[in-house]
Amino acid sequence: MILERDKDTICALSTPPGSGGIAVVRVSGPQAAQISKKLCAFLPSELESHRVYYGFIFDPSLNEKIDEVLVTYFAEGRSFTAEETIEISCHGGEIISNEILRNLVLLGARPAERGEFTYRAFMNGRIDLIQAESVLSLIESQSQLAARLALRQLQGEASTTLKKMEDQLIWILAHLEANIDFAHEDIESASHQVIVDSSRKLLGDVEQMLENYKKGRLIEQGLRVVLVGQPNVGKSSLLNAILGSDRAIVTEFPGTTRDFIEADTNIEGTKVTLVDTAGLRQTQDKIEQIGIQKTRDSLELADVIAYILTPEMILSEEDFNEISGLEKGKRVFVINKADLLPAINQTAFFDKQQDKRLQKLFLQESVIFISAQTGYGLDKFKQKLLSFLPKSSEELSACLSNARHFELLTKTKLGLEKALELMLKDSSPEFIALELHLALLALHELLGKQFDDQVMDRVFKEFCLGK
Ligand code: GDP
Repeated sequence: MILERDKDTICALSTPPGSGGIAVVRVSGPQAAQISKKLCAFLPSELESHRVYYGFIFDPSLNEKIDEVLVTYFAEGRSFTAEETIEISCHGGEIISNEILRNLVLLGARPAERGEFTYRAFMNGRIDLIQAESVLSLIESQSQLAARLALRQLQGEASTTLKKMEDQLIWILAHLEANIDFAHEDIESASHQVIVDSSRKLLGDVEQMLENYKKGRLIEQGLRVVLVGQPNVGKSSLLNAILGSDRAIVTEFPGTTRDFIEADTNIEGTKVTLVDTAGLRQTQDKIEQIGIQKTRDSLELADVIAYILTPEMILSEEDFNEISGLEKGKRVFVINKADLLPAINQTAFFDKQQDKRLQKLFLQESVIFISAQTGYGLDKFKQKLLSFLPKSSEELSACLSNARHFELLTKTKLGLEKALELMLKDSSPEFIALELHLALLALHELLGKQFDDQVMDRVFKEFCLGK
């Protein structure tokens, strides 16, 4: 893997392989222009940054035209990698771009490794590690919201917030250490109370950012919606109705969806994964029992639990326990087969239930009436699902979105918590400083100021060639 800052000039196809209108070959490194000029005789000796040049690219050994191209020049310090960069836009298809790449390599460029352009941007201090990761998120984003989040990360919003936290932490450490170093001298440093207050404030900010992580993850990975309910209530039918296909097998016999059926769809630009489960019904059937356990596991991973009922059902105490046991912030009650209700008389369903606790529960939380068969209420159901996402772009600010971020910021939080605890116990400043240093180290790792080969490997191996 690419672990040293090297001075090779690298090249790769930066557009997806295969046929397309155009393809872009990217060359980056100290000799990018010098090498490219040997293939593109039309380039002037003095190149102007961010200018596009037009002409024919030649195979110098055969003295034959390879293609008609546009060449963009980016001067050192003014490109994505911060190195001198040339982008050659040629006609699509693999033959031409391969010809160009082959000639570049013959003239001294080296094929780039996965993510090496972004890696160089990071190593050259153009972007920090979070921004490098956001390049990948942006390329791979599956919804508009996810793309917007990635772009904001790339522009450094999350990084700026983290850097402010770093400054704050360094300030606290400096004052704490001043107390250690000059304990016996008459040097003024912040009082104990000011240090405690600042640490508390910082901890609050870190916690807020961790809270935002959940939103960031939701946006990047989409909503995971698990459909649960007794057999035959119409879970598979609902899944099919939303997907608009016969992805799940619908039958009239209870217990047919033994294994999970998972399908992705896109609702108003948001990726939504629907999971049809085996239901939670008690059963003697061994296979179904396994399915039920799996259902319980999947509830843990769900962002939304849609509990499906039907109008004719009269719920038992056991049902009530099952329903009220579902996590409050995640559950949505859906009455399917609303077409069976006379004139969709919603209160008829409530009135029928003898268990008053259920009536109360349903009244407190909105219940959605739908018909998977006629399509009634499906839009409302979809809107309800989307309501689990952050609403405004305001909520998106300074969002972190991947597991590495969460892991490290949690370490920062733990370090701060321990430090605060020690401060309140009036422990020796050396011990407090130790915890704060751990918190700071985690922040540095998060931003990539401190890194090891493994982390780099993990981050950049995800990239494809040419990025
Ligand atoms: P699951 O076991 O919960 O997945 O239920 P299915 O999707 O297999 O549906 C069970 C039965 O209910 C099938 O015969 C469906 O045709 C029927 N069904 C599903 N949705 C509706 C609906 O909205 N209205 C009516 N009348 N029947 C439905």
